[in-house]
Amino acid sequence: MIEDRIFVGGQWRQGRGAQTASLFPADQSINVQLHVADLSDVDDAVQAGERAWRNPAWRESLPHQRATVLYRVAALIEARREDLARLQTRDNGKPLAETRALVDSAAGTARYFAAVCETLEGELPTPRSRDFTAFSTYEPIGVIAAITPWNSPIASEMQKIAPALAAGNAVVVKPADATPMAALALARLYEEAGLPAGLLSVLPGRGSVVGEAMVRHPLVRKISFTGGTNTGRHLAHIAADKLIPTSLELGGKSPTIVLDDADLEHAVRGVAYGIFSSAGQACVAGSRLLVHRSLYDAFMNRLQDVVRGLRIGHPEQDGVHMGPLISRAHRESVANYVASALEEGGRIRCGGAVPADPALELGNYYLPTVIEGLSPQARACREEIFGPVLVAMPFDDEASLIAEANDSVYGLAAGIWTGDYRRALNLAARLEAGTIWINTYKKFSISTPFGGFKESGLGREKGRQGVLAYMQQKSIYLGMETAPMRWSR
Ligand code: NAD
Repeated sequence: MIEDRIFVGGQWRQGRGAQTASLFPADQSINVQLHVADLSDVDDAVQAGERAWRNPAWRESLPHQRATVLYRVAALIEARREDLARLQTRDNGKPLAETRALVDSAAGTARYFAAVCETLEGELPTPRSRDFTAFSTYEPIGVIAAITPWNSPIASEMQKIAPALAAGNAVVVKPADATPMAALALARLYEEAGLPAGLLSVLPGRGSVVGEAMVRHPLVRKISFTGGTNTGRHLAHIAADKLIPTSLELGGKSPTIVLDDADLEHAVRGVAYGIFSSAGQACVAGSRLLVHRSLYDAFMNRLQDVVRGLRIGHPEQDGVHMGPLISRAHRESVANYVASALEEGGRIRCGGAVPADPALELGNYYLPTVIEGLSPQARACREEIFGPVLVAMPFDDEASLIAEANDSVYGLAAGIWTGDYRRALNLAARLEAGTIWINTYKKFSISTPFGGFKESGLGREKGRQGVLAYMQQKSIYLGMETAPMRWSR
């Protein structure tokens, strides 16, 4: 699968840090024993990145030459689709159907940013005056520290690597502690596709050691982070001290709203998918359900039936809806949230336990759980659980609905289910979230910008603008006067 090697400045070598085991969340078997990076690996990777992006052979290469590498990577990913999907399933326990979709997304991202790279243009921001004319170009920033979480490794890593390279930077990636394998596999493909040595490094290791050293390194000129809000806030402080840009894709507690005119079956299926796919381990998971009171009982009865019918099982088996959670510690954290909800007056509609099936005993499984009867102030309604737990509440009118939906420090996403798009768009305009799905949920396109309001993040990824997040603008003035300047005369 993956050897005990990390990718430092174009070289495959054993990491100089401690040896750690990456475990398969379905049975705790060992995927790989990996020596992770240490501080000297970080320095070597960043120094190599600095040399590589400044190298005129790359810096002055034409956009289509840079794009060619990304197109080749996309083709290589497609050729190894099944292997890469299986690798990720071993890494984070997601069912194969989901990891195949992540692989497809990574290939699409590489291809999209290749096309953006080829078609990127500068600007003529000022009209020509008698004295001067001016234009602006976009230039790379330098070495980018890219730090990713464990829930969608290959997709989130590609979402940073592809635009950063297309923009002409070098990238040092630190994958999540639990999921080092996809990023290392990606590095092999970039190497095979002909990416010059040093432009990409992959440094598995602890966030507080390797990640921290990366972002603090004086030659790192931008932080691109996806992960939890507290980590993001910490990195934003470091970025502020260094005065470097940072983009942060953080957590969420997204409301999913069912209006009284919604198609009930459509909404029930969409709500179940929005929270329970990926076993709820999705930043955009629709984890707060708000249903109009006139529909509430019928909706909850049907939702309960659908959730009880979900298949929890080994992620390598076909037809499984939910695999295990990433780790035992994470399952415990999810169970603690459920316990706190019970203490705060919640009633469990379904789930709320580890599955009884002895075949699942070794994995970190947790049943899809629906809780009702909570006040919006309860911990389970306010904090990101990042697991298969849905809290449900009825609402009476749109004014109270908006107040409740927006009553969160987060603002990543929201869902609306209704038969009336005019109503939906009016509601969407008042919801504080970076992405709003109407009569659908968790659909993504690489050409559509993505990011959070409030504590869900800073900046946007994806879309044509996504590449500009890895560039800085330089404006150039050309004097048009034929006589010497009048001022000192
Ligand atoms: P996390 O914040 O614990 O870790 C994310 C990454 O940061 C990991 O690689 C970790 O090792 C690293 N890290 C931790 N401390 C660090 C430090 N001091 N310096 C540098 N790096 C450090 O998050 P997680 O548990 O891996 O992921 C779950 C979180 O990610 C959830 O909150 C989820 O909502 C969020 N997420 C957000 C998006 C998005 O696009 N908005 C997507 C996926 C996940």
